[in-house]
Amino acid sequence: MNFEFYLPVEVLFGTGYADKVGEVGKRFGYRVLVVTGRKSTKENRTLERVLNSLTRNGAEEVLIYDKVETNPTDKMVNEASKLVVEHRIDYIVGLGGGSSLDVAKAVSIVSSNEGYAWDYVNYPEGPRLIPFLNRPVICIPTTAGTGSEVNRYSVLSNTLRKEKLVLSHSLNYPKVAIIDPTTTVSMDRRLTAITGIDALMHALESLTNKLSNILAEELAVKAITLIKKYLPIALEEPENLEARSYMSYSAMLAGIAIDRKRVALIHGMEHPVSAHYPNITHGEGLAGLAVAVTEFNYKGNKDKYSLFAELMGYKPQPHMAVKAVEDFLEKVGMRVSLKNLGVEEEKIERLTEDVYMLSRGLFSINPVEPTQEDIFKLYEKAYAGF
Ligand code: NAP
Ligand code: FE
Repeated sequence: MNFEFYLPVEVLFGTGYADKVGEVGKRFGYRVLVVTGRKSTKENRTLERVLNSLTRNGAEEVLIYDKVETNPTDKMVNEASKLVVEHRIDYIVGLGGGSSLDVAKAVSIVSSNEGYAWDYVNYPEGPRLIPFLNRPVICIPTTAGTGSEVNRYSVLSNTLRKEKLVLSHSLNYPKVAIIDPTTTVSMDRRLTAITGIDALMHALESLTNKLSNILAEELAVKAITLIKKYLPIALEEPENLEARSYMSYSAMLAGIAIDRKRVALIHGMEHPVSAHYPNITHGEGLAGLAVAVTEFNYKGNKDKYSLFAELMGYKPQPHMAVKAVEDFLEKVGMRVSLKNLGVEEEKIERLTEDVYMLSRGLFSINPVEPTQEDIFKLYEKAYAGF
């Protein structure tokens, strides 16, 4: 047995913990940039909680960058980085869904090194620039999905190029993750399902891909078990803090699992979808692709797909994983086709091309190594639905 594990993130998990941010942050300095979205953190008052905590603990200057949108762009990172430099900001707080956390983390890199956000994203041939410095980031997730609060990834879109790529570097970990499940209670049914499916797909893809890491796999197994149990409860009882807590916990576990074992073809095929259609959320795109890709993948790792089927309550047989995915999507109201989501059929060729151009690094770790023709056919299947 051999495996590697590295996670330089201090995790503070508990109800009410968002109020601790000022106390935690003061060790990093007194000039703060809060990176957040346009509306939800104002509406659910988590922004107010964070600002109060910062001022209570002596912050001297608190700036807010509140223009992050879902499928965030390199432009947002560049804009916020400029503020950090101009105002000599000591540390950054990312508050919101994965989009806000991803931007906050990337701002730390871009504001501390030369160049722009797009210089640091991972093309298959590598990024254009390598960072050597960062600034402290505290991440406070208000969704339970991406796991960005505990990993080294920032997923960014470039609207001109219509590309969505990952900035992945050991300097891109936040210093602290403050996970407070009370901040997720305001998610509506659809957002709860969208983000929960993202976490489930992180667990499924990290469990089944060809990389081997026993510790990451055990985290993925636990996440699958918990999401199966608690996502339906969180949907029925949005204020149920036990269900919300276990969803935040599962998203964190799955976020660590992908940090070690990466994702696979479902994510690789989703990124071009939300790059070309920024109104489609990441979780919806994953849901649209999950059944077709699982059907393609299960023969490549029979043991792990049997285990997944079993954890989801089915006979431990690899092909039952397909049914498990299909039924669970149905149960949480996410059984969608790419056509339903607004993808145009004539775009499938371009999407296929983009998977090859941008995400072929994932091909060799996918349970079954795909050809470009396989990918085209999978998009067609996912377009038609099941
Ligand atoms: P998100 O894009 O951050 O947010 C989606 C929507 O949810 C926004 O409209 C936001 O509103 C709203 N929202 C957030 N928290 C809320 C709450 N508690 N109550 C009500 N509304 C709330 O969603 P996400 O799924 O968490 O993040 C998706 C992004 O993360 C994608 O770009 C995806 O590619 C990326 N991702 C990253 C990783 C990683 O490892 N780093 C992994 C998977 C996915 P406001 O805009 O008004 O705040
Ligand atoms: Fe994801």
